[in-house]
Amino acid sequence: MLVKDIGICVGRQEYSETSQIATIFTRGQGKIRGIAKGARRAKSKFGGGIELLSRGQVVFSPGHGRGLVTLTEWTAQENYLGLRRDLRQLYRAYYLAELVDLFTEEQDRHEQLYDFFCQGLSELSSGRGWEEFLVFQVRLLMEVGLSPQLSSCGRCGKGSGGRAAGHISFSEGGILCRGCAGGVSEKERISPAGLEILRKLSSHAARSPTNEPTYKQGEAGGAVLEDEKGRQAQKLLNYWVRSALNREPKTAYLLC
Ligand SMILES: [Zn+2]
Repeated sequence: MLVKDIGICVGRQEYSETSQIATIFTRGQGKIRGIAKGARRAKSKFGGGIELLSRGQVVFSPGHGRGLVTLTEWTAQENYLGLRRDLRQLYRAYYLAELVDLFTEEQDRHEQLYDFFCQGLSELSSGRGWEEFLVFQVRLLMEVGLSPQLSSCGRCGKGSGGRAAGHISFSEGGILCRGCAGGVSEKERISPAGLEILRKLSSHAARSPTNEPTYKQGEAGGAVLEDEKGRQAQKLLNYWVRSALNREPKTAYLLC
């Protein structure tokens, strides 16, 4: 039985002189890892190979249970060429692809996350995706049940109103009130501004996918995000992701 789906390539490795193994985040089947035999031949059913961060139609034979599937066809539909012209956006896209790969299980479906991922790549490809880049990370964490608790203390559950929280802790599941912070060693500093921006990103992340950019031009937090606040938010998200995975993603060093 063959399955036809659409998906985005989030990882690839050469397998032999002519074949490759590709990790594809599909809309209907979730992440699949498959071998594309002969993919690198010019006249294959894979159009010469499956490019990282390209979106297309894939046909595969699922095999039994999880594990390596056999890819039989790939037709690229969107290569996000804008990314190839802007290294900074390309690196962000690499990072998101790695996170999708690391945080999702094989053949575990995440349709909405897939739509958000397409939206995020389009935004990055058009050069305006910094906010979308941050929001997608929060969405991904929400989708897999690992997003931080930001409205009340992760340890005692008391509402902090924001100002009192000076730390965030992955092991406690979110921000810490002043009373609890002293008793928790695994924690990271969070400034009131950092907390505010994380909350803003979370409320944006809870929305449905659209064709509109996450922030409209001139909206509070839009252009300003790029510099100071955006960097703070990324630092906090990096800490959260690193703690959740128990290691640094390989592409994290590319972010600046
Ligand atoms: Zn507390």
